[in-house]
Amino acid sequence: MKIREYLKPTTLEEAYNALKDKNATVIGGGAYLRLGAKEVDTMLDLSNLGLDLIEDKEDRIEIGAMVTLRQIEQSEVLQKNFSGAVSKAIGAIMGVQIRNIATVGGSVAGRYAFSDVITPLLALDTYVELHNGGKTSLKDFLGIKGKINDVVVKIVIMKDNRKASFQSVRNTSTDFAILNAAVSNVGGDLKISVGARPGVAQLAEKAMEFLKSSELNEETAVKAGKIAAEELKFGNDIRGSLEYRTELCKALVKRAIMEVI
Ligand SMILES: Cc1cc2nc3c(=O)[nH]c(=O)nc-3n(C[C@H](O)[C@H](O)[C@H](O)COP(=O)(O)OP(=O)(O)OC[C@H]3O[C@@H](n4cnc5c(N)ncnc54)[C@H](O)[C@@H]3O)c2cc1C
Repeated sequence: MKIREYLKPTTLEEAYNALKDKNATVIGGGAYLRLGAKEVDTMLDLSNLGLDLIEDKEDRIEIGAMVTLRQIEQSEVLQKNFSGAVSKAIGAIMGVQIRNIATVGGSVAGRYAFSDVITPLLALDTYVELHNGGKTSLKDFLGIKGKINDVVVKIVIMKDNRKASFQSVRNTSTDFAILNAAVSNVGGDLKISVGARPGVAQLAEKAMEFLKSSELNEETAVKAGKIAAEELKFGNDIRGSLEYRTELCKALVKRAIMEVI
């Protein structure tokens, strides 16, 4: 990769101005960026901004954009909260070498369709803090079309005692998931997220609505899996067919619901 100018700002304001004025490219771990970008005019490295901390606050967990996937995997606070589902999901991505490099900021900003990071976060009460745009729900953030033109500063997960479960199917341990799903439960209120459809993770709103007015048991878990499979869109790619993904959705959503109830 050819980089003409490499900036390492010491304030977020400086970083944002470079993004705006120079149309700079933000680099997280660079693991994914390097696969695509061959030439970059201005690269913006955020590693001098102290964004590499996971902070356990009273009502929330704040994860700085430069926190690596490996830090999340090994974080005691993330292993303790949400049934450890976020740590477990992320701990299964590729190998330790990649997880030591890839950041949560890059993983969320990239809005990758195959993401095993976004799916479990979307099933929780998660927010993305942007330097200019402020705090926005992860769901709304995923809806932004095109380049975000902002700096992802941190990811905030509200600590509301949710139980959570993450499920995925992949052909080999280092491949992208064919489908993944996450479900969380707080006091009978369930959130269902399905990713790698192969589109980016999305909430199964109709299935969630159905469970709100249902008794939570195996029968309704099966029904919710079917509703999720009907309401979400699936596609074909080299890893799996639309039909296979539709069937996986039913099974993974049901399994995750059974775990959290
Ligand atoms: C070989 C390989 C296999 C992988 N397999 C999987 C997998 O199975 N499952 C999975 O979930 N993930 C997988 N990933 C993706 C990985 O988990 C990360 O999501 C990815 O590498 C992005 O993180 P990064 O820190 O490397 O970001 P970068 O590559 O540095 O950046 C990614 C994008 O985000 C932008 N960006 C980065 N940080 C910020 C920020 N703070 N603010 C605004 N924009 C920002 C960059 O400009 C770029 O557009 C894989 C990656 C690789 C390289």
